[in-house]
Amino acid sequence: MNIFLNCPWCEDEVAFMVDQDRDELICSACSTSFDLAPDPAVTFALLYAAA
Ligand SMILES: [Zn+2]
Repeated sequence: MNIFLNCPWCEDEVAFMVDQDRDELICSACSTSFDLAPDPAVTFALLYAAA
């Protein structure tokens, strides 16, 4: 499954691969991975808080 998000490192909207086995989101452009929280809103907050 892929979702499109604005990557803080790429500074662009790119595809993120969702790795459900490892609970991670991985940027397809820069390969940065983020922890995937159960709540999408929390995941979003983690993603942007990391910038
Ligand atoms: Zn990226």
